[in-house]
Amino acid sequence: MLYRVIDAAELPLLVAAFMESYEVVAPVRTGKCYNFARIEDAGDIELGYDTTVIAPKKYVLPSAETLLEFDAKENGVTDYIAEIAPRVIFGAHACDINAINRLDLVFKDGPYPDPYYTARRKATLIVGISCTPSKNCFCHLWDSDEARFGYDLFLQDIGGRYLVSISSVEAANILEASCDPRVATDEDRISFRHATRRRQEAFNPDIPHIQEVAMLMDAFHKDPFWEELGGRCLSCTACSAVCPTCYCFDIRDVLDPDGKTGRRERVWDSCTAPQFAEVAGGHNFRANGRGRVRHRMYHKLNGFLANYNHMLCVGCGRCVTACKARINPIEVLRFFEQKGAEDGE
Ligand code: SF4
Ligand code: SF4
Repeated sequence: MLYRVIDAAELPLLVAAFMESYEVVAPVRTGKCYNFARIEDAGDIELGYDTTVIAPKKYVLPSAETLLEFDAKENGVTDYIAEIAPRVIFGAHACDINAINRLDLVFKDGPYPDPYYTARRKATLIVGISCTPSKNCFCHLWDSDEARFGYDLFLQDIGGRYLVSISSVEAANILEASCDPRVATDEDRISFRHATRRRQEAFNPDIPHIQEVAMLMDAFHKDPFWEELGGRCLSCTACSAVCPTCYCFDIRDVLDPDGKTGRRERVWDSCTAPQFAEVAGGHNFRANGRGRVRHRMYHKLNGFLANYNHMLCVGCGRCVTACKARINPIEVLRFFEQKGAEDGE
């Protein structure tokens, strides 16, 4: 890994240089919230944001995309090749970079790479930015508070300047051409250490740190806790809409008004929707809230780990904010904490 330091005042030059060749999407303020959106001016970027409502996942796995087009008149099917513009996701937090790394495992690095996802991913540069945890953040519990790979540049704010971790030649060339990067000094490294420690100390201490979560998920699989948690679920699917790692999708064929031509689309789906596990004949494998919520938490905190060696939850805290029924991984951790306290009695 190569490290350089730039002054904070140089950042708009870096953004402007990216904008010459790429579409740049970055966190901007939308009302009381933040969201990633295409920017026209570096001054629109809000790098001090806490969390965006929707994760930058939408740029590699859009909420709806066309996969193919069909034409009954010609009896033909054509691959739909979306025009994928070279893009920079500027200002992604470590948890969201780690979330995209999880999606890569599923869509890009497996035995059957998804061509749509892979094309978007290859056309995307990622510039990360250090952050200060908000009260709902718990990325440190899943080792997602630092991004060790999956970005092109990562900017660590060390007070009036940034320590820049460089991991791609493409981004290094743009950094070199637009700014005046210098070699990091011992003072820079010490400032980096202090900034890292401040971030680590800023996590909400009320969120329980539980060991062996995956094992506990198995141990309490039949506990009435899931009935209580699932009974509260409104099936609004907000949790998966905001989650940076939820990747379930549905496929639907959309006919044009002539009834002859149309397209096949992939759209985000959610395992907390009642019809998600319904099959032909009307049987539903997860017909109640208990089954659906428990399944979602299991995939996040147990099942994905078994297959990919990583938690699927990256602790971004978005579902903690989005779920009005207070159903989220922190509630699961609190349940395990309570069970541990009861065992100790
Ligand atoms: S868990 Fe919460 S956010 Fe998710 S579907 Fe149920 S009520 Fe909605
Ligand atoms: S489950 Fe919740 S906290 Fe975990 S990654 Fe998804 S939205 Fe973030």
